[in-house]
Amino acid sequence: MKRSGLDYILEGACLADCRFGSFSKFAKFLKEDFSEICTQKEASKKLRKFIKTLKKDYSVIGQKEAKNLLLAEDLESIGNIISKVCLPDPFETLNQMYIKAKKFFTKHGLLSKFPNYYIVESFPEPFQNMAWDCMFLDEADEEKFNVRAGIYFKKALVKNYITPLLLFHELVHMAISEHTGEKEKGIGARGLEEGICDLFGMYLFSKSEGVKVTKNVMIFFRFNYDNKPLLTPLYRDALRVALVLYKNLGIQGLMNLIKSGRGSIMEVEKSCLNGKFDLKGIKKGWWEEKFDILVNSLLSYRMYWTVSPLAYYVVRASKQEQEIESLIRNYNLHPVQTRKALKELQENYFFGTFHKNLFIYNIYPKDYIKNGYIRYKN
Ligand SMILES: [Zn+2]
Repeated sequence: MKRSGLDYILEGACLADCRFGSFSKFAKFLKEDFSEICTQKEASKKLRKFIKTLKKDYSVIGQKEAKNLLLAEDLESIGNIISKVCLPDPFETLNQMYIKAKKFFTKHGLLSKFPNYYIVESFPEPFQNMAWDCMFLDEADEEKFNVRAGIYFKKALVKNYITPLLLFHELVHMAISEHTGEKEKGIGARGLEEGICDLFGMYLFSKSEGVKVTKNVMIFFRFNYDNKPLLTPLYRDALRVALVLYKNLGIQGLMNLIKSGRGSIMEVEKSCLNGKFDLKGIKKGWWEEKFDILVNSLLSYRMYWTVSPLAYYVVRASKQEQEIESLIRNYNLHPVQTRKALKELQENYFFGTFHKNLFIYNIYPKDYIKNGYIRYKN
């Protein structure tokens, strides 16, 4: 199977404890150096060399140098994983997830006819030029376009930890379609429905891959500060509504909602718009403690606490009451850029205040750093 160094690194990032703010920019940054096909061992070796080009003994640390050092740290955290853990074959992973999903959707009466999936070089005509990672075609399409119904994945884009989430997301759309009456079939599958698809995808994915990986992937694709791709905020906002709905209805309540079809979901969305999430007509139940924690941590996530690299570097090194000159001296920091970074922390994020020769934090940053709430712009 042909996999590039970039594939291993990005999958490794899903398992690691990275602090970059934008997954797409992180991928872009590595693309040129790691697009060659190689083994995981070769990728790991190449990564070690690459880290050395970033992690130098800089005579003075300004924004650029801080960014290199922080990227090197993230890559080291990924390198530790991909040098030890053998990443699974993504096609095999997808197949296993498909089997698990089939069991779940069938057992709970979500889908009576479980779709096939296909891995293709390009989507069938007339969809061959669409820039999607995956798509589904139903029986109506089968007749109309002379194609096989099912879920399609582009071969080159199949990845561990990412593609299975897309599979689950699509399956929930299909389940909702199956329970939607003919009259309502024409309603667009948008808005809250997208959030429910994401939330269910998250739930099933976390059962297999654990809460930590799920949180990483959701932050990378839904809660990144730079909102790229442009649709990200639409999906994120819909997901937030679904997360609050989960807290009120539980997995059982959401399954009942899926089974009530697209029209009902639209009605529920209207109710949510009025701030009413405790829906009387839907039988609720089934909350899980671990999943509750994941839901809460995403609801309370601060994606706009993504600061400039030097500000991150400074905030991490600081004490609650930090003497500015000693900070600059002890960490070899660029004096002008450091003061600017502190100003950024004060004015843009309200983290602290200048007072004589001190910078006094009014939000103690260490816990936010530790838990990944503060990140750096990459
Ligand atoms: Zn969707």
